[in-house]
Amino acid sequence: MNHITTDYLIIGAGASGMAFADTLLTETDAHITIVDRHAKPGGHWNDAYSFVTLHQPSSFYGVNSTELSSQSKDAHGVNKGLYSLASGLEVSSYYERVMNQTLLPSGRVSYFPMSDHVGDGRVKSILSGAETQVTVRKKTVDSTYFGPTVPSTHTPKFKVAADAWMVSPNALAQLWQAPREPGRERPLHFTIIGAGKTAMDVGVWLLNAGAAPENISWVMPRDSWLVNRLHTQPGLDFFDEAIGGQANQMEALAKATSIADLFERLEACEAMLRIHPDQTPTMFHYATISKAEVQSLRRITNVIRKGRVQAVEAKALVLDAGRVELPPHTLCIDCTASAVEKRPAAPQPVFEGNKILLQMVRIPMPSFSAALIAYVEAHYGNEPGDSDVKAGGSEGDAKKNQLCGAVQFPDSLTGYVASTFGNMRNQFVWSQDKTLRTWIRDSRLDGFAKVVAAVSRDDIAKQAVLERLKTNAKAAVANMPKLIAGSDQ
Ligand SMILES: Cc1cc2nc3c(=O)[nH]c(=O)nc-3n(C[C@H](O)[C@H](O)[C@H](O)COP(=O)(O)OP(=O)(O)OC[C@H]3O[C@@H](n4cnc5c(N)ncnc54)[C@H](O)[C@@H]3O)c2cc1C
Repeated sequence: MNHITTDYLIIGAGASGMAFADTLLTETDAHITIVDRHAKPGGHWNDAYSFVTLHQPSSFYGVNSTELSSQSKDAHGVNKGLYSLASGLEVSSYYERVMNQTLLPSGRVSYFPMSDHVGDGRVKSILSGAETQVTVRKKTVDSTYFGPTVPSTHTPKFKVAADAWMVSPNALAQLWQAPREPGRERPLHFTIIGAGKTAMDVGVWLLNAGAAPENISWVMPRDSWLVNRLHTQPGLDFFDEAIGGQANQMEALAKATSIADLFERLEACEAMLRIHPDQTPTMFHYATISKAEVQSLRRITNVIRKGRVQAVEAKALVLDAGRVELPPHTLCIDCTASAVEKRPAAPQPVFEGNKILLQMVRIPMPSFSAALIAYVEAHYGNEPGDSDVKAGGSEGDAKKNQLCGAVQFPDSLTGYVASTFGNMRNQFVWSQDKTLRTWIRDSRLDGFAKVVAAVSRDDIAKQAVLERLKTNAKAAVANMPKLIAGSDQ
């Protein structure tokens, strides 16, 4: 067995592990070892379907040191007028560039691709089986805790008969090479299984690629509220939509008398969208979508609302509430992988002794969260009085955890209020610390602090929006615990 020594061992070279490594490299002199099962950095982006894109503008995704965005806007299509969304291929080649042009050339990073971390610092090569024991001088950083599953790598929770025709979205763009022998003709009908963002991507892709809406069915176990992408745009040119949108969102949170009332208000100010206005959504996963995408998806009218799929057979779907026959030559598309499988009852501490468990400290921002945690690891918790030794943590954990309270990823509508409350709690704590406040403002991974800082004092209209945001945010913080307490979801 080989032996190496490092300061930090990072398990996972996905968005979280890479953002952590990049900031730690900038902020310390530490030696870092990164291990990942994939052949390339970028995590699940390496397994994604060919038409996947970021949901959010590229300008605040990735690692802190390296720009991902081309700063261009789409001139056509369902994202027209909005900042471009990096494609999956762009995201994975970006991470490869960060690894090869920033991390490895530093001479302070060792990278073990195609290798499993099998526990206690033991790294096993997938190809040779050779083991390396990594002795960690400081901490082991686990970036795999929330590891999302994607359709091409997950196992569906329902039965799939041997003669059923079901693929992951990855197979769709390859249909041109489908064999034409009898029994395996090209599909005449498509059934999308799942109601999350992947299913929405598949619906939009099928329609754009030429499938007729009447030849598409969509199994929707539940409906979702969706973030209006217009309100997530960076830069001063979208100030009214983004910052004004946040002021409206805070007003809704401040004035709502119930969760149902809240979402009506959020829809009225267009902060949130839904695909089917006659349905009441019960799910919220921060899926982000444009109004044009929603319009496009409304063309699919054959929506199957019979609960979850229990089995896919050759000619039928078996669902919680009954059986649905499939038209001849139906291709089923599995979109049921969950971006977040693990939702622990309570968030875990981020810092605990010689372990760092990467979680989101601002939802839905995994890159920003991991970079901020690395910054806190580098600069905080070393003063006298920060010790948490009595609570089982190492010196400094208490201070670090106070700055990095993990925020739970939501599933329900109440979860939206709870995660917004968690985000605001952290934002307040960070705002009290000048050094951290400055780092956040200057970080490319923060979407909006720079926009706010760039508003001229003489710009009366924008200053009024900022004032409204401040006042509404205060009132929202007072109302959110009542909304959560009054909810039965
Ligand atoms: C389709 C899709 C679109 C998304 N769009 C956005 C978006 O626009 N904006 C946004 O902020 N978020 C988005 N997300 C959320 C997404 O989860 C994060 O952006 C991010 O990519 C997650 O990265 P991660 O590092 O946490 O996990 P992963 O990408 O899963 O990385 C974890 C890595 O750890 C490795 N690993 C796990 N266990 C081990 C082990 N024992 N040994 C070695 N290696 C191991 C895995 O191989 C993997 O490479 C999207 C998610 C999906 C699925």
